[in-house]
Amino acid sequence: MDLPGREACYRALQSRDSRFDGHIFVGVSSTGVYCRLVCPARTPKFVNCRFFSSAAAAQEAGFRPCLRCRPETAPELASWRGTSNTVSRALALIAEGALDGDGKSVENLAARLGLGERQLRRLFLQQLGASPVSVAQTRRVLFAKQLVHDTHLPVKEIAAAAGFSSLRRFNEAFLNSFLQSSRALRAARATKHEGPDIVLRLRYRPPYDWESILDFLRARAVAGVEAVEDERYFRTIEIGNATGSLAVNHLPEPDSIGVRIRFPNVKSFAAIVARVRRQFDLGADIETIEEHLSSDPALARFVLKRPGLRVPGGWDGFETAVRAVLGQQISVVAARRLAARLVELHGRRVPEALRLHPALSRTFPTARRLAAASSLGLAMPAARLAALTAVANAAMTDPSLFHPMGRIEETVARLTAIRGIGEWSAQYIALRAIREMDAFPATDIGLLRGTVALDGRRLTPANLLIRAEAWRPWRAYAAQHLWMADANAPHTEQGGTGE
Ligand SMILES: [Zn+2]
Repeated sequence: MDLPGREACYRALQSRDSRFDGHIFVGVSSTGVYCRLVCPARTPKFVNCRFFSSAAAAQEAGFRPCLRCRPETAPELASWRGTSNTVSRALALIAEGALDGDGKSVENLAARLGLGERQLRRLFLQQLGASPVSVAQTRRVLFAKQLVHDTHLPVKEIAAAAGFSSLRRFNEAFLNSFLQSSRALRAARATKHEGPDIVLRLRYRPPYDWESILDFLRARAVAGVEAVEDERYFRTIEIGNATGSLAVNHLPEPDSIGVRIRFPNVKSFAAIVARVRRQFDLGADIETIEEHLSSDPALARFVLKRPGLRVPGGWDGFETAVRAVLGQQISVVAARRLAARLVELHGRRVPEALRLHPALSRTFPTARRLAAASSLGLAMPAARLAALTAVANAAMTDPSLFHPMGRIEETVARLTAIRGIGEWSAQYIALRAIREMDAFPATDIGLLRGTVALDGRRLTPANLLIRAEAWRPWRAYAAQHLWMADANAPHTEQGGTGE
């Protein structure tokens, strides 16, 4: 989205229009502070306002984040730009730390996205008004501020968690951004001690269909790794050499989800938060997506029935791929059972003190563990066992196998090159793990059954693909609606034909 004209931006500001929260930020030259458009403070004079399409652009222009509306809590809209967009892919990688720490460069980031450094900088300037480095810096500062505000973590740990290479750098950046030290800011906020965990609030843009996403997760929860209870989702985490767990719940006021993290390595917090955002699809500009899908009258009925329906993401690329293979040609229930067995045999034990739910016991096995296993120990056809090993080996050989790269066709081609991964699995992995919002497993049985509710007759995969052309670039959302509409078995999205 290009920034609307100044007058239009100002009108949105005057009306505190939440539709632009996260899309537009306003810098106020008389105070040097920048705000979200929904800031409760008095509306500044028109002549004093400068509008920006990202927090990073406002920071780059020398504005400090407002302490009242807290720009760090604005919904982060990585995917509203359209997933075929290089910038949103780059943002996803930056969110996972692609520019944090030594040896990380914009050049490498650009290479991962298949373009040159200058090209990437130009795209960032065009769409965000800021360079990749300053976007990463802003992220770090804002994430740090959120941790200062909302947790009791020691400052030293916050610096590490937010990706700063030293405490000195952190203090400098913090003072620069907020004109006060983190200690002063912390002293000023209302204190709340929460025990050993960190608890954060992550915003989304409404509407958000929490029931559906929780149902989805409940129906697929793998014993030992995941649990759903009391409207909360729990799971174990393994990142780097550490294990832990998290819990996610819904906070409809104000349009956010709460995340509780119990994890020994603070340096992984930013990556954990990025994953939660992805799994719960918090970055979706749902209004734009639903408006687009509703131009198909049949689909418009689905959207009316389930406003705010999200496309759940996979927690981890490798895990999602393994679960896709386990689900080939069998029911969700049977696939869950196999996954639970795999976890029991190969998952890493999570210490009891780090479990946020008693049912959590192990992490999902990593590619390294499965690649090294002499036998997977699962009762399933030899071809699919071989496929699991092939996926594990491919993930070991190419650590960025599940990162977005190039066009969706290239992603699918890269995945189908793995033995045992066919078109259905590749599309499914692209959709859940790589977050290609235009991915579409057209041969999926549940999806095809769902087409009955669409047109009154069951479409063939070929016809469905033609029909789905109009849903681009958001076919994944259409798919999610079709799966939900599959009344026979609301939770049977699974099982591509012919794999
Ligand atoms: Zn403000």
